[in-house]
Amino acid sequence: MKKVASMLLAFVFVFSTSLILIDFGKVEAAAATVTSGKTYYIRNKNSGHFLDAEQSMNNNVIQHSFHGGKNQQWKVVSVGSGYYTLENQWLGYQNSGRKMLSVSTANNNCDLYFKTANLNTQMFKLVDNGDNSFRLLNKWGESSNQVIETQDASKVSPYNVQRYTWKNINCQKWYFIEVEAMSTEGGLATRTVTIRKNGDIAKNSSTWSPRINTAANAWNTSGAGTNITLTSSGSSPYVIEVGGYVWFDAGQCVNSPQGNTISTASIIYINLTGISIDMQFLKLSGDNLEKYERGLITHEMGHLFWLGDNPNTSNLNSSLMNSDRTKTTIFKPQAYDINNVRLRYD
Ligand SMILES: [Zn+2]
Repeated sequence: MKKVASMLLAFVFVFSTSLILIDFGKVEAAAATVTSGKTYYIRNKNSGHFLDAEQSMNNNVIQHSFHGGKNQQWKVVSVGSGYYTLENQWLGYQNSGRKMLSVSTANNNCDLYFKTANLNTQMFKLVDNGDNSFRLLNKWGESSNQVIETQDASKVSPYNVQRYTWKNINCQKWYFIEVEAMSTEGGLATRTVTIRKNGDIAKNSSTWSPRINTAANAWNTSGAGTNITLTSSGSSPYVIEVGGYVWFDAGQCVNSPQGNTISTASIIYINLTGISIDMQFLKLSGDNLEKYERGLITHEMGHLFWLGDNPNTSNLNSSLMNSDRTKTTIFKPQAYDINNVRLRYD
């Protein structure tokens, strides 16, 4: 399908020069997209760890468990002809100018090098692996298929990242996750979670108990790979409760991350005070109110899976995580949200 599509594009381009909307600064894998100018976390498919520049200023590139710091953030910039550069965002490297993901021609090293125009060792093709991931094919090493991989297919954090010949193995495959889509406030270690309904309203209310079930089901049937189980009696450190709180937000998800931002306890608060404000402001009742409430719970559950607020999509309705989405129609996880959860956990 992809080949056919690109042939069609070429055809259109040749025969209609007015079609200038074709964007060459964008490359798409099966469902993933990398857009020139955006900043990404880059996650290894084999280890689940993230491409990271060591903060010791030794310029070495490693994999590290997620911490969300700038040294795990990479700005992807199209430099034409299908090549991209990847620029580490940590201030230390930004200030030194030595910030570009680069390979060595002398050995297998992959490290940061000074930004230099047209330097083949710091230009990459992002090649679609067909599974939502990309490989980073270096321009200098393109004829011998040199890509970026975690050395020894290690799952250890931290561990060295290097250049090596493409073998079509998972330690050479990388998921690109938009930085703006992901919360730095922690998330669950896995997509399987038991959430305990806490308090009478969450457990027994004929309104709220079914809403919570429906929200969990919306995630579980979305294709995001989540497995949320609800319990009213068991003991789980992951909790949802409904009450009238003194703050004005309609909902909150408080993750309690430890160590590398894996949350070991989380509470979702659904706030009747905030909802009554929204009801007046948005003129909600009946079916619209139900959808709003379901969307509210589903949104808060999204934070458990590492999704951040307001990912700055060009269309506010592309994400359940946008606070200014149309709340009575966008009440389920959207394709953008589902894909981000998959990129984070697959
Ligand atoms: Zn939120």
